[in-house]
Amino acid sequence: LFDALSDQAALAIERVQLVSDVDGARLAAETDKLRAALLTSISHDLKTPLAAIMGSADMLKDLGVRLDEETRRELLSTVIDESERLNRFIANLLDMTRIGAGAMEPNYAWHFAGDIVGSALARAVKIVSHHRVEVHIPETLPMLRVDPVLFEQVLFNLIDNAAKYAPDGTSIEIDGRQDGNTIMLSIKDEGPGIPSDDIERVFDSFYRVRKADQVRAGTGLGLSICRGFVEAMGGTITAANRTDRSGAVFTIRMPAMAGMPMPGEDE
Ligand code: ADP
Repeated sequence: LFDALSDQAALAIERVQLVSDVDGARLAAETDKLRAALLTSISHDLKTPLAAIMGSADMLKDLGVRLDEETRRELLSTVIDESERLNRFIANLLDMTRIGAGAMEPNYAWHFAGDIVGSALARAVKIVSHHRVEVHIPETLPMLRVDPVLFEQVLFNLIDNAAKYAPDGTSIEIDGRQDGNTIMLSIKDEGPGIPSDDIERVFDSFYRVRKADQVRAGTGLGLSICRGFVEAMGGTITAANRTDRSGAVFTIRMPAMAGMPMPGEDE
């Protein structure tokens, strides 16, 4: 499982197999260090929610009848929220393993980008309830040949991040456009943006930019999953900062395919 968890670990292992014994030994040590760091990080991400669940469940059990209704509800909410967090983390780990094992076999079909954005937003409806969401996807945008499950997951992760890192009350903008042979989808927010030194690293597994980001429920896996999925479908994904105001922009570029039907046309 852990071999497949990080791109860096996989790369390091590949390199170990290619270079001389001496370099190999050094790289193997690096890989061991990396694996230990990954294990520590994973253990921490599993232990934190588990501790909260156990603490709340213990209180409910021991104090049961003596708790007022509000406290009981709060404790139960903690159990549910933290279980969801664990669930999400495990789902992320499984996604990472699929990418790392090269086991991604997308199920391609033609889809209108607006429909997939719609289903990602429907899944994120609670998450974005404190933001204004604006979607600008022209009806004339050519269809995409993608795996709808994977593509929705990518959009969901980006929308989830926009809502998580940009303050309540701000706008999240989702734009679609075509530039020559490329179809671009961008997700813009009005949050703090990403320091320029970190722009590439945000796609690394377990990388989180700010100390402050650690207090938010997150795994540091969301964007590396986005990149793995998008690349498996033949596209690219990049991060940048907005130039018109503070905020991050994530842009997915997918090749416009020959023979692509227009929305409404038969496939
Ligand atoms: P997670 O959100 O679980 O930490 P991600 O891989 O999705 O993991 O993101 C990695 C890091 O990139 C985040 O911890 C955060 O520091 C930064 N980041 C991601 N999206 C945004 C955004 N929209 N605005 C500002 N920072 C972001």
